[in-house]
Amino acid sequence: RASVKKITTGSQALDGLLGGGIETRTMTELFGEFGSGKTQICHQVSVNVQLPPERGGLSGKALYIDTEGTFRTERIKAMASALGLEPKEVLQNIMSIRAINTDHQIAIVEELQDIIAKDNSIKLVVVDSITSHFRAEYSGRENLAVRQQKLNRHLHQLVRLAEIYDLAVIVTNQVMARPDMFYGDPTVAVGGHTLYHVPGIRVQIKKSRGNRRIARMVDAPHLPEGEVVFSITNTGIRD
Ligand code: ADP
Ligand code: MG
Repeated sequence: RASVKKITTGSQALDGLLGGGIETRTMTELFGEFGSGKTQICHQVSVNVQLPPERGGLSGKALYIDTEGTFRTERIKAMASALGLEPKEVLQNIMSIRAINTDHQIAIVEELQDIIAKDNSIKLVVVDSITSHFRAEYSGRENLAVRQQKLNRHLHQLVRLAEIYDLAVIVTNQVMARPDMFYGDPTVAVGGHTLYHVPGIRVQIKKSRGNRRIARMVDAPHLPEGEVVFSITNTGIRD
């Protein structure tokens, strides 16, 4: 695992939980309820990956697959300015693609292979969220098997990208406040069930008081379990 690189989240506590930051060659799943901060972390890491290594980045670019229409250029610019980076430049180094349905989302990831093969400066791929279209299109128990199979294949494609091109993959997964309650009923905790079986790191994000959030490492293969507190501020993710 010597060649794994890390991208800072902007919070030392969260980085510590992750063993130094978001890892390359790995898929990191951020799961949590609406408003927990998953999208904010994705924005922040898309900015931070552009930092030089001495500042916790990889001097790389990001690819952001937005399935919910929540990508905000203004937020990127604010986070970039706060780090003393040129907002326009930072924005240019984030290719955001709006995925309109599951087939489109899958097709985008299939095309990424070629894009990344040509541009080895891409060091981060975000899918925010991985499950929303699947949930909408394959609702109901009778569609569960097909959905899980399709989602699993999609996830494994992302894991392969991470491994082959030494890049970080972050996917988000919106679940109820206590997803463990729903694992017995995967029609409720959409995706939770499937993602559990895909290799990678799973981090639960929970709301706390005000702008405070709790991140919890869930059954990581090589990291200790634990919880840390971080904040979502005007300038981005911080301790
Ligand atoms: P999720 O993707 O998990 O549903 P988000 O990442 O969209 O949640 O987080 C939304 C929360 O982020 C908001 O409720 C707010 O607390 C915080 N937030 C968003 N923008 C800002 C900002 N500019 N300044 C401070 N906090 C913000
Ligand atoms: Mg979101």
